[in-house]
Amino acid sequence: AGHVRFEDLRFGYEPGQPILKGISLDVAAGQTLAVVGPSGAGKSTLARLMYRFYDPDGGRITIDGQDIAEVTQGSLRAAIGIVPQDTVLFNDTIGYNIAYGREGASEAEIEAAARGAAIAGFIERQPDGYATRVGERGLKLSGGEKQRVAIARTLLKDPPILILDEATSALDSRTEADILETLRGVEQGRTTIVIAHRLSTIVHADQIVVLEGGRVAERGTHAELLRRG
Ligand code: ADP
Ligand code: ADP
Repeated sequence: AGHVRFEDLRFGYEPGQPILKGISLDVAAGQTLAVVGPSGAGKSTLARLMYRFYDPDGGRITIDGQDIAEVTQGSLRAAIGIVPQDTVLFNDTIGYNIAYGREGASEAEIEAAARGAAIAGFIERQPDGYATRVGERGLKLSGGEKQRVAIARTLLKDPPILILDEATSALDSRTEADILETLRGVEQGRTTIVIAHRLSTIVHADQIVVLEGGRVAERGTHAELLRRG
């Protein structure tokens, strides 16, 4: 499961001001698509349409052949995990933030998610059952730690489709490299759409598209795009 298609997708926030001008993409289940391009090209807009923060003006998005306009919000959310650029956390424990929205999750599941996101090291079991670094609350975490909490949250949800919307763009390059390594593991077996602006962060993608002015300007593998300059 997790075959994603964008079919001639068109969208604008304001009438007469198209942002996406007919985007067609096909991502096989389990593959990684990278979307790069200059700021303002419409990359995040593409992600917002996938999650149905907005609906398209034309064309459609399908998951396993089904138009996402026809699936319930609940099953769409279950199918897609998003790691945004800046994760906003509640001023509560790390465990609370990981489990938010998944109140039925067990302690073992939360710990497994934390391990997958490589934050298990600073989590301790508390008498009240919440996993947390002692005294540490969401707001105190570094940018990289916040992203790891978002990754853990996604692992707990275990969606077939993962969207990384500039998930490491706000981090320094050392932290970015560490988190990219963690993300490689999280991407395994999931259809992944990586939105980025640095080509170096998406070398592993099966398919790269360059979005410019709301259109696909280039597509190919990393090697193909480098060859073409
Ligand atoms: P990218 O992610 O490639 O930087 P975006 O998808 O964020 O691009 O934005 C594409 C265009 O849509 C930009 O011109 C941006 O100003 C505009 N835009 C983004 N969000 C909104 C919004 N909520 N309302 C109106 N215009 C928006
Ligand atoms: P759940 O996974 O419990 O269904 P939500 O549907 O509220 O949670 O959010 C799913 C993911 O989308 C979360 O990781 C959240 O950070 C992200 N998200 C929510 N709103 C936005 C937004 N406006 N822009 C980018 N990402 C968002």
